[in-house]
Amino acid sequence: MSWATYRGVGIGNLCAIGEVARFDPPAGVGHHGGNGSDLERAVYAMDECANRLESLAATSSPPASEILLAQSLMARDPAFRDAVSAEVAGGSPAGVAIKSAADRFANQLQALGGYFAERARDVADVGALALRLLGSDTLGELPVRESACVLVAKDLSPADTVGLDPAKILAIVTEGGGPTSHTSVIARALGIPAVVGCGGAAEIAEGDRVLVDPVAGEVLLQPEVSEWLLRSGRREARRAQGRVKGDLISTGRVELLVNVGALDELPVVAAAESGGVGLLRTEFIFLNRVDSPSVEEQAAVYGEVFAAFSGRKVVARTLDSGADKPLAFLRRGEEPNPALGIRGVRTRSSAPQVLDDQLSAFHQAARESGCRLWVMAPMVATTIEAREFVSLCRKHSLKSAGVMVEVPALALRAREVMAQVDFVSLGTNDLSQYAFAADRELGQLAALLDPWQPALLELAGMVGSAGRSAGKPVGVCGEAASDPALAVVLAGLGATSLSVSARALPPVREALSAVGIREARRAARAALVAGSAQEARQEVLELLGWASR
Ligand code: PEP
Ligand code: MG
Repeated sequence: MSWATYRGVGIGNLCAIGEVARFDPPAGVGHHGGNGSDLERAVYAMDECANRLESLAATSSPPASEILLAQSLMARDPAFRDAVSAEVAGGSPAGVAIKSAADRFANQLQALGGYFAERARDVADVGALALRLLGSDTLGELPVRESACVLVAKDLSPADTVGLDPAKILAIVTEGGGPTSHTSVIARALGIPAVVGCGGAAEIAEGDRVLVDPVAGEVLLQPEVSEWLLRSGRREARRAQGRVKGDLISTGRVELLVNVGALDELPVVAAAESGGVGLLRTEFIFLNRVDSPSVEEQAAVYGEVFAAFSGRKVVARTLDSGADKPLAFLRRGEEPNPALGIRGVRTRSSAPQVLDDQLSAFHQAARESGCRLWVMAPMVATTIEAREFVSLCRKHSLKSAGVMVEVPALALRAREVMAQVDFVSLGTNDLSQYAFAADRELGQLAALLDPWQPALLELAGMVGSAGRSAGKPVGVCGEAASDPALAVVLAGLGATSLSVSARALPPVREALSAVGIREARRAARAALVAGSAQEARQEVLELLGWASR
């Protein structure tokens, strides 16, 4: 686990890890340009700015040279200079005059939109550079370190970026900027990975160790080397060395799927590389509904999801109402312990029609889409409940019916359950909650809910081996599957599919692609005999060779 993760827009596709060199040039507080009047000093700074941009343009190549030349022209623009003079005449000191004139110009351009709006950033850059030249006779020295480093700054202007040596700069992180900003354009041209528009980058300090993952658009503070290993594509190197034969992904031993909740995330999750949906949390779709949705309404909504995954698998879960996600139309009064109350499939006893309607809608929607639909029920606690649910699915002509294993009692009866269902899926979030009698909403109990807890893994292992004996698929759709090393352990325990958030897909895929089934089983054995969650994790990271230095 890293200490913190910051998110922004990624440029490039190479992961980098290294120590931070901060670049925070002072802005406009000095008295360079002599002891002349404020107007003379402001003009001096703008002239210097234009000259330096011109000479940088002359020594660089496109696209940087074009950007720098355009900015030098801006620094000489008479209208800009008039605005600065007017500010000074109004009593502003040189620095304030440059800043307000630049801000005003930038705002005007922004308001014009289109091409002009794109130039607003240039004016702001020119203003910032002129300010620097008021305070110093350089634009600000980029940090020079003996070994290559990750450059972190509030913002970088093209004048800063153009001088970067890709051999010395592993990656760039800036608070400002966007995917089309000049910094991004130049970083891309230089082949330096970057995360721009990275909120919170101000907290990253000189000398911190960070991992920059442009594909995920993430910057991790104090990451573990294992994380970099997974993200950086070292897999390819390991493959080249012939060390990974028959890995978990390419052999099809483990299918990688994605969890879906909100419909507005559909375009992103459907575009992600996955075998389909491993958990469609249907209750999220109707959280704000007071009355139960009709079959037609549900069919239309599910149809959207199924169509987005046409040709792939979708594991749809029936409404998991109750506890932290109560649905008004399934609620039957207050309960003293909602997590232990009428949740999930249990709502069937008081509202059988709701489940019937949902299964009809599933069938209707699936018929019209090209996806392979699997249906499962949440919060099943007994073999009888499992059997009843499957038989209800059959009545609705749903061919593939299964249950979630998230109640320990069901895990203990996994062999019997397998005889009743087509598949199971481990909900490790609730399985932890119920196995450790620890409310999953309570942060103070996080250590008990750690998915590396050997007791939780033992329950998962029981289900995995029951699935193997019965020749039936065992999925994992709880958060445990999103931890790359734990994903390997779950595969070793017998999971045949893992369903994770779209964000977690790349690192989990990397992990599963770096390991074969034998190694995964060894990792699972090591985790099962560990004395604690931390020990299990450490043992597995070491065994896989992913432990931090
Ligand atoms: C789980 O319990 O692990 C699970 C996937 O279901 P949810 O988190 O929606 O309760
Ligand atoms: Mg659950």
